[in-house]
Amino acid sequence: MSVPAPVRAVEASAVEARVAATIRGEILATTSYATAKPAGMIELHANENPFPLPASLRGELAAVLAEAAVNRYPEGAGEGVKRALAAALPIPHGAEMVLGNGSDELIQVITAAVARPGAAILAPDPTFVMYRIYAAQSAVRYVSVPLRADFTLDDEAFAAAIGRERPALVWLASPNNPTGRALPRASIERILGAAPGLVVVDEAYADFAGTSFLPRVLDFPNLVVLRTLSKIGLAGARLGYAVGHPAWIAELDKVRSPYNVNALTQAAVPVVLAAADVLAAQVAKIVAERARLAAALAAVPGAEVTQSDANFLLVRVPDADAMATRLRAAGILVKNLHGGHPLTANCLRITVGTPAENDALVRAMTPP
Ligand SMILES: *Cc1c(COP(=O)(O)O)cnc(C)c1O
Repeated sequence: MSVPAPVRAVEASAVEARVAATIRGEILATTSYATAKPAGMIELHANENPFPLPASLRGELAAVLAEAAVNRYPEGAGEGVKRALAAALPIPHGAEMVLGNGSDELIQVITAAVARPGAAILAPDPTFVMYRIYAAQSAVRYVSVPLRADFTLDDEAFAAAIGRERPALVWLASPNNPTGRALPRASIERILGAAPGLVVVDEAYADFAGTSFLPRVLDFPNLVVLRTLSKIGLAGARLGYAVGHPAWIAELDKVRSPYNVNALTQAAVPVVLAAADVLAAQVAKIVAERARLAAALAAVPGAEVTQSDANFLLVRVPDADAMATRLRAAGILVKNLHGGHPLTANCLRITVGTPAENDALVRAMTPP
């Protein structure tokens, strides 16, 4: 839609000068998170569940959403969603949770909550990019410890960084994005023991790994577990949650926006969670496809596939830029990590798709 230019528009340069003098340097220095959605492509770039909800469940959702009172503000804390999550998950008695508009929002909330002057945030590298972006926006020092070349955590280097930096917050994505590997239980326990502040284990992909610290969230004085429904089938609904001791959760709850989870999502999530077997069956299909796809890609000449505990594979190819271009021409989107962290040079992050999508991918990656 084109909007006619106003008759007396201000000079762009005058606006830009005012913006540059007003907006904080940390914001000016970053670019918007790109989320373009080209139509008609096979989407293997965003770690979504490729399977839609079954028609019967969508019918149930339609009925529930029709009754949602969108003229009213939603219930602020999302108590109905919390009850449904508590019933569906191994959350220990006495733990509490705070909901977010996706776990991205909770990453922002947690960062803002610890962002006192002089604080440091520590994470392995490469890891989920939003940790660094929100730290920069909150003007908190962000310190990263490189993973080893095989994408495992360097426990000694991480322990040394904890001792040196005394971080207010440690981010541990397990399984990690973009590498796909879960952290060994012992590594997480050791970090929890050494860290002076909060340790958040981000379990966005835990359903595909089969391991979780959720049942143990009250066993440590400094653990919060972060989760999301995005990777298992509800990316569009935007629902993340953080679980921990009530003392941590009460503080995080003060930082979130008052009505951060909308009424339609609050109505939909309990219905989907009541059909948890449907999502579990889809997760099982994705895990089976992950093994099949990994084997097929390992047979592509020049491709190296990293072991994955998530719903995506990290694949190194001789020329990632050329391969991403070739795949795009074949109608397939993947995440090209080349040009980012040196450890992921010439790497593609490829989401496990449906069997047909995975077959199309392997065909497109195989030289004629
Ligand atoms: C995708 C992802 C998230 C964010 O997911 P939301 O859709 O905002 O819930 C958080 N952490 C990691 C590691 C992710 O990969």
